[in-house]
Amino acid sequence: MSSSEAKPAQPPTTTVTTLNSRHSAHLSLSLSRYKRQWFLTYPRAYGMVAFPGQRIVCRLNTPDQTLDEAYARKHFWFNADMASQPYNPSEKDDETKRYISSPIHMLLDSETPVARLTGRTRAEKSNNWQDNGKEVVCHEVEVIMPDEGLVRQCYYCLGWEGEGEETRLTSFADETYWCESCQKQNTVGLAMGSFWQKLVRDKVTPTLDSNTFPRDSLYA
Ligand SMILES: [Zn+2]
Repeated sequence: MSSSEAKPAQPPTTTVTTLNSRHSAHLSLSLSRYKRQWFLTYPRAYGMVAFPGQRIVCRLNTPDQTLDEAYARKHFWFNADMASQPYNPSEKDDETKRYISSPIHMLLDSETPVARLTGRTRAEKSNNWQDNGKEVVCHEVEVIMPDEGLVRQCYYCLGWEGEGEETRLTSFADETYWCESCQKQNTVGLAMGSFWQKLVRDKVTPTLDSNTFPRDSLYA
């Protein structure tokens, strides 16, 4: 038996890691990742801030294909597509100030530590449209929370964890997850290979969107 076959399903006791800070206006946040792309997400559906199927607060970086794969699973260069206030870790005043909805502050000042700066910076073209494509200084971030704490999304129906049931989504391929009902429906498709999986997904997902509510996607 190979080690991948022997791997047990995610134990139900494993929970999502939530970020709480003075900057997030009492809403818990979470992190998600697909390959080298990092996201700030909502761990639950908050009716007043987004549609039930929409959990992505913002993208946190530009995926860097030059990084070693294992390294990219724990590190990224912070360059959010939503405005952040400048982060000054050395300024004493900043230890009590509130920067409401500033992604870098919500990420680094979480009461449960999830990430820290490595101290390295580099210039990148800003992902925030308000910067009109100008170069900005990006901090390198090291993620110190376990992968199991990241919020997962079903690749097929784009359902998110925390939509009612407490069970975690399970992995069917590298960094790709599915829910129980899609798992049952797609066992045949899976046996037919990745081309058919993709075809099923592209046919199923738009139907779901028009009949229910818009869902955002980690996989897009
Ligand atoms: Zn699903």
